[in-house]
Amino acid sequence: MDDNCIFCKVITGNLKVPIIHENETGIAINDINPMAPQHFLIIPKFHVANILESGSLINLNKLFELVNLLVTEQELHNGFRLVVNTGDDGGQTVQHLHVHLLAGRNLKWPPG
Ligand code: 5GP
Ligand code: ZN
Repeated sequence: MDDNCIFCKVITGNLKVPIIHENETGIAINDINPMAPQHFLIIPKFHVANILESGSLINLNKLFELVNLLVTEQELHNGFRLVVNTGDDGGQTVQHLHVHLLAGRNLKWPPG
């Protein structure tokens, strides 16, 4: 845990945020500043800065089970985007690994 990390504060309960789903590896919450009609963040409970540092520290299969749960529960079978911004050039602003799940824009996505 990193005392200065906003997502660690969510995970420890020091910052109250509704948890949509949770398993032993991570949590799923709504993004505070949604970039799509549905915008979730899937966040591992263990603090690592980004995907390059996750190595064997994070069970990514278990983390992605939360994606499947969201898809089922939020009825996202028509499709969605998963984004893992990494580092300065990737536009990462919170230095705790997280996966964006964006949905509900139909075909009006920018390319890439
Ligand atoms: P990044 O730019 O690092 O890929 O994404 C960080 C995301 O975290 C942003 O989309 C931002 O809106 C979201 N975020 C930052 N602070 C909070 C917060 O306190 N609560 C929630 N739910 N999302 C946050
Ligand atoms: Zn953290």
